[in-house]
Amino acid sequence: MENYDITIIGGGPAGLTSAIYATRSLRKVALVEKGVPGGQIATTDLIENYPGFPEGISGPELMQRFEEQAKKFGTDFLNLFNVSEISLEDNMKIVRSTDGRSIISKAVIIATGQNPRKLGVPGESEFTGRGVSYCATCDGAFFKGKKVAVVGGGNSAIQEALYLTRFADSVTVIHRRDQLRADRILQERAFKNEKIQFLWNSVVSEIRGDQLLRSIVVKNVQTGEQKEVELHGVFIYIGYEPNTDFLKGFLELDENGYIITDEKLQTSIPGVFACGDVRKNALKQVSVAVGEGAVAAMSAEQYLDELENKNI
Ligand code: NAP
Repeated sequence: MENYDITIIGGGPAGLTSAIYATRSLRKVALVEKGVPGGQIATTDLIENYPGFPEGISGPELMQRFEEQAKKFGTDFLNLFNVSEISLEDNMKIVRSTDGRSIISKAVIIATGQNPRKLGVPGESEFTGRGVSYCATCDGAFFKGKKVAVVGGGNSAIQEALYLTRFADSVTVIHRRDQLRADRILQERAFKNEKIQFLWNSVVSEIRGDQLLRSIVVKNVQTGEQKEVELHGVFIYIGYEPNTDFLKGFLELDENGYIITDEKLQTSIPGVFACGDVRKNALKQVSVAVGEGAVAAMSAEQYLDELENKNI
């Protein structure tokens, strides 16, 4: 079993920032990641509100820079390490993977982020990868000259609808209310874009097709009226769910599964910290995840100092 000072779970902006801070404090740090580092932001085409990049920067490039910086200070990256559980042995924390590996450390920082929420309608899982997508940056280019829909009214839905107009001939935003939740600047850009139409007070009730998606059934929530709309792709952006299944029963979560922390970002278990999108009440922004990653690393450092002063 590998022995570290700090194990960081998750390689998005929060986890990578924790790694930079912790290794720069000369701690021995492992960063485990169920896929490869980058997190959700690595699937974002352009980030315009991360300071220091007035022209914007692509998600993959920004995350690659974070990773290089964490590597430079000596973080050990363990990719394809899907955490199945964390357990305690006195003050030590053992992080186990689904394929039987384990890491032992004095502190753990959880930065596992969140995953796209599913609509939960007939046809959604059947046509995922065959017309249904949760990532316009990954799949948008397959819809050149085609007709697509985006479900949702938040920042993600509108930002990705705008992105999809580069490829698709027409983008229909389907929103369950008659007002968008997205920031005004994005709303204005979408309203001005001739390729974008809106279906208000509407939800998708079914996704249909043969080998590929061919149509969706849209229901007006006010009148109950249903209609079939022919198109080629549906991009679903209706919010997210935290990646905390492996923590159930181990530490305190809120009713939606997000991790509850104190102001030092310590969870209900001493020496276990959480930061970024996985944390209750965190504002889901890269700059916030970065700030929280720094706080979690410094709190973990303080925890380790206290243990060492007590000679534990
Ligand atoms: P979000 O803000 O939670 O918006 C989710 C949208 O989906 C809402 O419009 C919601 O409708 C709708 N929705 C939720 N459940 C639904 C269901 N079952 N059926 C149909 N519609 C449903 O999620 P998000 O847009 O992914 O954003 C997540 C966070 O990331 C936010 O804090 C956002 O500001 C941030 N973000 C920021 C940027 C940026 O700054 N450029 C870009 C992307 C994301 P209602 O409006 O009716 O609730």
